[in-house]
Amino acid sequence: MTTLYRHEPFTDFSQKENQEAFKKALKTVNKEWLGKEYPLIINGERITTDAKIVSYNPAKKDEVIGSVSKATKELAEKAIEAAATAFETWRYTKAEERANILFRAAASIRRKKHEFSALLVKEAGKPWKEADADTAEAIDFLEYYARQMIELSNGKPINSREGEYNQYIYTPTGVTVSIPPWNFLFAIMAGITVAPLVSGNTVVLKPASATPIIAARFVEVLEEAGVPKGVINFVPGSGSEVGDTLVDHPKTSIITFTGSREVGTRIFERAAVVQPGQQHLKQVIAEMGGKDTIIVDKDGDVELAAQSIFTSAFGFAGQKCSAGSRAVVHADVYDAVVERVVEITEEQITGNPESHSTYMGPVIDAASYEKIMGYIEIGKEEGRLVSGGTGDDSKGFFIQPTIFADVDAEAKIMQEEIFGPVLAFSKVASFDEALQVANNTEYGLTGAVITNNRAHIERAKQEFHVGNLYFNRNCTGAIVGYHPFGGFKMSGTDSKAGGPDYLTLHMNAKTVSETY
Ligand code: NAD
Repeated sequence: MTTLYRHEPFTDFSQKENQEAFKKALKTVNKEWLGKEYPLIINGERITTDAKIVSYNPAKKDEVIGSVSKATKELAEKAIEAAATAFETWRYTKAEERANILFRAAASIRRKKHEFSALLVKEAGKPWKEADADTAEAIDFLEYYARQMIELSNGKPINSREGEYNQYIYTPTGVTVSIPPWNFLFAIMAGITVAPLVSGNTVVLKPASATPIIAARFVEVLEEAGVPKGVINFVPGSGSEVGDTLVDHPKTSIITFTGSREVGTRIFERAAVVQPGQQHLKQVIAEMGGKDTIIVDKDGDVELAAQSIFTSAFGFAGQKCSAGSRAVVHADVYDAVVERVVEITEEQITGNPESHSTYMGPVIDAASYEKIMGYIEIGKEEGRLVSGGTGDDSKGFFIQPTIFADVDAEAKIMQEEIFGPVLAFSKVASFDEALQVANNTEYGLTGAVITNNRAHIERAKQEFHVGNLYFNRNCTGAIVGYHPFGGFKMSGTDSKAGGPDYLTLHMNAKTVSETY
């Protein structure tokens, strides 16, 4: 019997003992976890290549977190073949057996929770709180999907007529290629790996090149928890070379991808091509970018609005698909909200996330830094700079939280995903106009409305077209099993990770009818 699912609690870092425990974990990681080399894993075999992908600390850009071997096209093909062979046995293992592996993996991560979070601080520049939430979410995916698989293992009820016995059951699909992003380097990577696994599929995991170390350690956890050889294969490699090979392979059945719109649409197109020898249509789960809006209504609470906008825009330096990078505010409260957001923002510390007092760490790498600084220059043309606007990449990739006011709804910085700490404010004259602006991008991932007007809440439920809509709170921070997550339009296939329908996307429904 499994207990009821409850999300993993967040660590209260206002408690001295928790602060001490986290500092200790940082020390352990600094001393014992950094600088190691990790091989590829194909059919349980460790393969070391000369070519490496090196992971660096974005807050201290010369510090090496670790390195992984880099797969070639041939090794990627070998991994798919291994996964295809392993599928023939794994597909028949009992759902409970697969689920138990996930429970064991969750327990193992929980035992070293702060060490894992400390690794996220180092590898992605996450402040403590964000790293702690990322690890908690990884645990949640394991706990939630394991329970969901047990529940689905008997299928769903359908009707039977006199003299027949009908069943509706779920069967695994095949080889799954899992391609995660670097920003939720633990949670999303783990989620899109274990969902197909627990559903009876075998997996080839190609981690994000900026954050392969957490993925290598997670695969070790899965192996220790009992995932058989060939069922999980680990193949870091270049997105364009290895990524295309994995996506195009005729034995690939599912591609589960989270990342940018650009790469997601490329995968979607390539997966549609039926390759010689391919006997099925590939399924693509693609969760992509966002340009998420917070609407503040004329009667909205100014303090709540400001706190919500600030948290949504600058949590993890705005590097979340759900980041609230655009605030659309009614003219009656506009000045007050802008002023308060600027005030809150300027009280916060940007710096090395190893320090507990840091609110915002660096952005992930040099390319991101350049891209975001480019958007800040565009912002200076398109709006009124009211805070930040500067960066410093001498030691790490630090950018001050940046706010532009009075930006036109069609401006670039109101339309394009920047994926950094840049917030744009637009003023509107009515709730109608606010909804129109909120819907005027190609994305449809998250959104929030700060209002005390019940009629406006009901209208937004119908007319604000996003996958995750929140009222009177921030638009980030979805929790597995509580806020199933996924977007509309160019934000993706709306798979709703952490939701009740998610695993069924990895399985074929089978109708079985016996006559007696
Ligand atoms: P990205 O698209 O650059 O990379 C994502 C993954 O795709 C990486 O593992 C990368 O190596 C791989 N890749 C690159 N080229 C490939 C190819 N040709 N074939 C196969 N794989 C390839 O995205 P990123 O920079 O890692 O992540 C940031 C993006 O992810 C943002 O757009 C963000 O909004 C989005 N994101 C979306 C969600 C969501 O749930 N909707 C969650 C997190 C991040």
